[in-house]
Amino acid sequence: MTSSTSHSNLGAIDAAHHLHPFSDMKQLNATGTRIITRGEGVYIFDAAGKKYLDGFAGLWCVNIGYGRREIAEAVQRQMNELPYYNTFFGTTTPPTALLAQKITAHGGGVLNHVFFTNSGSEATDTWFRMARVYWKALGHPTKTQVIARRNGYHGSTVAGASLGGMRHMHEQGNLPIEGISHIGQPYWYAEGGDLTPSEFGLKMARELEAKIDELGEENVAAFVAEPVQGAGGVIVPPDSYWPEIARICKKRNILLVADEVICGFGRLGTWFGHQHFGFVPDLAPVAKGLSSGYLPIGAVLVGDRVARVMIEEVGDFNHGYTYSGHPVCAAAALENLRIIEEEGLVERVRDDIGPYFAAALKTLEDHEVVGQVDAVGLIAGIQLAADKATRRRFQKPDDAGVAVRNHCLQNGLVMRATSDRMLASPALVISRSEVDEMIGILRKGLDHLRDAGLA
Ligand SMILES: *Cc1c(COP(=O)(O)O)cnc(C)c1O
Repeated sequence: MTSSTSHSNLGAIDAAHHLHPFSDMKQLNATGTRIITRGEGVYIFDAAGKKYLDGFAGLWCVNIGYGRREIAEAVQRQMNELPYYNTFFGTTTPPTALLAQKITAHGGGVLNHVFFTNSGSEATDTWFRMARVYWKALGHPTKTQVIARRNGYHGSTVAGASLGGMRHMHEQGNLPIEGISHIGQPYWYAEGGDLTPSEFGLKMARELEAKIDELGEENVAAFVAEPVQGAGGVIVPPDSYWPEIARICKKRNILLVADEVICGFGRLGTWFGHQHFGFVPDLAPVAKGLSSGYLPIGAVLVGDRVARVMIEEVGDFNHGYTYSGHPVCAAAALENLRIIEEEGLVERVRDDIGPYFAAALKTLEDHEVVGQVDAVGLIAGIQLAADKATRRRFQKPDDAGVAVRNHCLQNGLVMRATSDRMLASPALVISRSEVDEMIGILRKGLDHLRDAGLA
C-alpha cells in the first residue's frame, strides 16, 4: 500500500472498521483518521506526504529515532533463525537470555533479574501479582494493598487502569479494583499553594505515610509511582520528594515500585529514572524505550530482595504470557540497547542534548501564556497559564492545550497536551537544530493561544 490512491481509501476503511484506543470515535469519524506512512530520524510523514517533527517519539518510545535498518536486519535474522519459541517450563532462546543480561547490566548492581512481558500494562499486572506473592511467601498474607498516585499512569489493563489515577479511566469498567488506593501527586504549580516546591514535595511524600497508617502497615504491599509522571502531564517532582518516599517505604517495610516505562532507557539522561533521582526500587516495570517501539516488549526488573524470595521461597510463579521473552522482540530490543550503548545516547542526553533542550525550552518562560517549563533530560512539561504572576490557569484548561497542540500539528510538529500542559519527549537522537525547529513551531502555537482570547 504505497500509492496515494490506495491511501485515500484508508481513512474510510479505518473509520468503518477500527475502534481506536483513547480517541473520540464519533469525532474521529467526522474529521478523518491521520494516516502515518513513513518515518526517518525524528520525522514522520503522513499519507499526503506532509512531514512532521515528532516531538513525542511516537508515544514516548522511539528513543533511537525512526528508520534504523540495524533493527530491521536483526529482526529479519531472528525471524529466519527461529521466529518463535516460548520461555515457559524451563526454556529460553538466545536473544532472550542475552537481553536479560543486558538490561540488568544497567540495574545498578541491585536489579539483577528480569521477567518479560509484551507491554507496560502487562508489566504492571506482573509486578502487582509478584508483590503480593512475595509478602505471602514471607508469611505476611495480609500485605496486599497497593498505594499509587492520583493522575499517575500505569497502563490500561484492569490492574493498570486501577493503579493509574485517571478518573476518566476509573469511570469506565467499575475501577479501581479492590485493594488499591491513591494519594496526591507532587504537582507544585497547580496544587502547591503558598508552599515552596521543596516544602510541597515533602508534604506530598508524607501523604504516603498517612495512607500507610490509615490502611495499617501490615496490610500494605507496595507503593508505585513514575519517577517523572508522564501521561499525567510530565510532572517533575521537587527534589525533596523521592528521598522522602524512599525513606518511608524503607521504614514502613513496603516495596517501592518505580514505573520506568517512560523514564527507562535514557530519557532522563540515566539508564533508569530512579538513578536520576538517587533511589533504588524493589521492582521496576519497563517497556517503550526497551525496543524503541520497533516491536512490542516489556519487562519487570526485579531487585535482589524480591528475586531471592521468588526463586527460593516461591519457586513456581504461576504467571506468564505466551510471548514473554519473544525471541524476535528480544532481538529487536537487544539491537536497540546496543545502539543506545554504542552511540552513547544516555550520556548524550545527560551532558549535551538534554541540557540544550532544557535551556532552549526555558526561553519560552518569557512568553505571556507560559507559567513554567519543567524539563529533565529529553522530557518536558510546559505549563500554560492565563496569569503568570498568580499562577492562574485558563478557565478551560483543556481548550488551551488543544489550541496549542492543533496549531503545532498544522505547522508540522507533533506535541501532546495533557489539559493545560504541553508535553514533549523527542527521540534521544534529536539534533540541536531539530530542537530549535521544534521550539520555533511551539512558540508560534503559544502566540496563537495568546491571540485566541481564552480567559
Ligand atoms: C505507557 C505506559 C504504561 C503502559 O504501557 P503499555 O505498553 O501501553 O501497556 C505503563 N506505565 C507508564 C508510566 C506508561 O507511560
